[in-house]
Amino acid sequence: MKETALYIHIPFCDHKCIYCDFYSIITYENTSSYLQSLKKEISFYAEKYNDDRKIISIYFGGGTPSFMEPEYISEIIEHVKQNFVLAENPEITLETNPGTVDKQKLENFNRAGINRISIGIQSFNEDELKFLTRIHDAQTAIKTVCDATKAGFANINIDLIFNLPGQTKQKWLNNLDEALRLPITHLSAYSLILEHGTILNKMVLDGKVKMQSDDYDAELYEITIDHLTQKGFEQYEVSNFALQGYECMHNNAYWRYKDYLSFGTSAHSFVNGKRWWNFSSVKFYNDAVSKNGNGIAGEEILTKEEMLDEYVMLALRSSGLDMNELEKLFGRSWLIKNQNYISRLIEQKFLTLTSTLLKFTSKGYAVCDEILAKLK
Ligand code: SF4
Repeated sequence: MKETALYIHIPFCDHKCIYCDFYSIITYENTSSYLQSLKKEISFYAEKYNDDRKIISIYFGGGTPSFMEPEYISEIIEHVKQNFVLAENPEITLETNPGTVDKQKLENFNRAGINRISIGIQSFNEDELKFLTRIHDAQTAIKTVCDATKAGFANINIDLIFNLPGQTKQKWLNNLDEALRLPITHLSAYSLILEHGTILNKMVLDGKVKMQSDDYDAELYEITIDHLTQKGFEQYEVSNFALQGYECMHNNAYWRYKDYLSFGTSAHSFVNGKRWWNFSSVKFYNDAVSKNGNGIAGEEILTKEEMLDEYVMLALRSSGLDMNELEKLFGRSWLIKNQNYISRLIEQKFLTLTSTLLKFTSKGYAVCDEILAKLK
């Protein structure tokens, strides 16, 4: 059976954070009609793809899924279970914001079937949290991680953002150390990106905020890799670090180029080399699902070359490129074309080759975008 990951988008948020360009809306008026659309869309794709698929993970992303009541999430999980074949122990993740849950609510999420919590903390520094316009303070963030443990979660990720304006190396190290004091199994560390259309972008254009340089960003990134790997967290993707056995199954499915089906506004799916995406607006999405059973706004079929490019890029950015697997799927031409460049990268210690696995070193991860642009 073909292993497939499921993503479910919950677009509702309490307010808009200044740096965020995800599709999210600040109203709870449409949550009931949205739930009906999600269920209809899940049934639609189950009928189409259920025969030869096994669901290995379900990921509730947003938006702020933890804003919803556990019963809401439970109803979706039950609907998935009724319509798809699930693997024995599927990973089921809920993105959670500190300040939206307490121990009781987390216990109820756990009872609903959630077995992995991903907490968007971003920083433990009060000034940084205020700057990012997060709804929580550091104490609430720490309490949420501890409550998650008490509620029975053994698999906890936290997200942190580095290279905030004015962030010193020491401040960032303090954030990492605070994280490492908590009972977490996974840490995602992202550099602050200036996205078009965000409030932060306008603040920068108006001269009210100054972003830090790319060189400084690279220094903080190297500090991150050194610090986390020294403490036993293995880097298994550019921005992701996990204790042994706690790599995110769902993200690995994306990076290993497995099929994924996604439901809800702005959700992207990828099945058998075809990619499609849904309407971003709840109204357009609801209307489309009611009419067609799905919320598709657009689609593309990837050429063999595009698939090869994506496969190589995703594999190298994560746990490595298996040359045998690559040859089986796409033939030898890519390897022949890039042979000399790859040998140089290995000599210069940007890549390692173990058996048939080509993998970035931490030095390589730091400049992986430049390297990937040259691999053709
Ligand atoms: S809570 Fe998350 S999804 Fe919502 S606005 Fe803030 S960063 Fe974006």
